[in-house]
Amino acid sequence: MRGDLMRHAVPARPAEERIHDFCEVSLGYTDELALAEAARCLNCKNPLCMQGCPVGVHIPLFISKLRDGDPDAAAEVLLSDNNLPAVCGRVCPQENQCEKFCVRREKAGGSVAIGALERYVADHAAAKGIKVAAAERGDAKVAVVGTGPASLSCAADLARAGVRVVMFEALHKAGGVLVYGIPEFRLPKDIVAREVKKLCELGVDIRTNIVVGKTVLLDELLADYDAVFVGTGAGLPSFLHVKGENLSGVLSANEFLTRVNLMKAYSASSATPVSRSKNVAVVGAGNVAMDAARTARRLGAEVTLVYRRSRAEMPARAEEIEHAAEEGIKFELLTNPVEILGENGAVTGMRCVRMSLGEPDASGRRRPLPVEGSEFDIACDEVIVALGTTPNPILKRSFPELATTPKGTIVADENGKTSVKGLYAGGDSVTGAATVILAMGAGKRSARAILEELKKEGK
Ligand SMILES: Cc1cc2nc3c(=O)[nH]c(=O)nc-3n(C[C@H](O)[C@H](O)[C@H](O)COP(=O)(O)OP(=O)(O)OC[C@H]3O[C@@H](n4cnc5c(N)ncnc54)[C@H](O)[C@@H]3O)c2cc1C
Repeated sequence: MRGDLMRHAVPARPAEERIHDFCEVSLGYTDELALAEAARCLNCKNPLCMQGCPVGVHIPLFISKLRDGDPDAAAEVLLSDNNLPAVCGRVCPQENQCEKFCVRREKAGGSVAIGALERYVADHAAAKGIKVAAAERGDAKVAVVGTGPASLSCAADLARAGVRVVMFEALHKAGGVLVYGIPEFRLPKDIVAREVKKLCELGVDIRTNIVVGKTVLLDELLADYDAVFVGTGAGLPSFLHVKGENLSGVLSANEFLTRVNLMKAYSASSATPVSRSKNVAVVGAGNVAMDAARTARRLGAEVTLVYRRSRAEMPARAEEIEHAAEEGIKFELLTNPVEILGENGAVTGMRCVRMSLGEPDASGRRRPLPVEGSEFDIACDEVIVALGTTPNPILKRSFPELATTPKGTIVADENGKTSVKGLYAGGDSVTGAATVILAMGAGKRSARAILEELKKEGK
């Protein structure tokens, strides 16, 4: 096949080097590779790729500017649609979004590497200090709860439209999962800090260490501001509910990743270090499980990832699964834990059962069924559980008027309007654990709805 038809691979650091540190794995395109990949875009009249982007980035336009040798113009197009392109270019599951709809996907060479081009243009914009213009500030003021991608997008769009925005964050650092969950080797924290700084430059006031529902109440915010947006995510971990789960050495992936990422627990001088285990079993197969497994590997452990379905059903991004395999993570597929084993209160192993796949269940994926008599033990001194998360109930408990579903997610329409006037919500707190780009799309739609409401009220 002709070289110019083939998708250009993104260079990455070798596995044997990267498992010893937390530096970024993917190196991104060089100028030459970016130009060559941009030249593969067919600039379709009916760009199907855009249908796969929840924030509606004008993909063919930014790629054509790049191909024409004008990366500054490409950056302006990208930044006008996407508040966090350097983040999306690194962590979006493009194979299930924009790249899934690229017409090249079914042709020779595969889809255009839209995510890698987005990252390239976003990094160019940051290096050159290219920014989107903002309107002059008016009197309207909006409170934004949480500082994850839903809230960051909502706040950016409001601030650019001239609204005074105050953000309230429970943790000591802004960024949500982008700082406490996704590890440095996939998303360097200075990139998130750069986005947060841009918001501050737009005049957004970010107040950390404030738990809304405890330190400040939602009623108070609704009384003090013209509108409130809630983007509190889904940070409450689910567990296995099997015997032995309370043994020392069993952690939720959220706790493990928060301690390592946000509290630098990999450093011996950390006030809250994590123990350096020799053999770690990670349960789950989403992005969170991959991140936990790859983090444990970097802390020196042999890691086994246990998942009850097969590789085809693994929900993590394809690139993360490939990188995890390259880094020596062992996959025990069609396997489910039934008990965590221990001695003297500490984990010594995990009893598992083999599974087979039956008919599809409510999730559309084939239902895993235990194979009778197939139990076996995995020796390990740590078990990290990454089985999904739900919204934290603090907000609802302090403000029962807010309608929620039985799963604890906030009830909101497509524009984020909740059961309470003036109160909007979006991101994982509404959908349950999902993706960065879906959270951003929700934040942007709420910002638009809030701006329309403010306009109607003459503010
Ligand atoms: C480890 C991990 C890896 C992931 N990898 C990917 C990936 O590769 N690609 C992808 O697209 N998605 C990934 N995701 C999912 C993605 O990060 C989330 O879908 C996204 O961050 C949701 O954004 P959000 O703004 O709704 O909430 P969050 O990012 O969860 O942010 C919510 C914020 O609200 C704060 N908060 C909560 N309650 C309160 C309160 N009462 N008062 C004040 N503040 C509060 C929290 O501290 C947090 O900072 C990953 C998730 C995890 C955990």
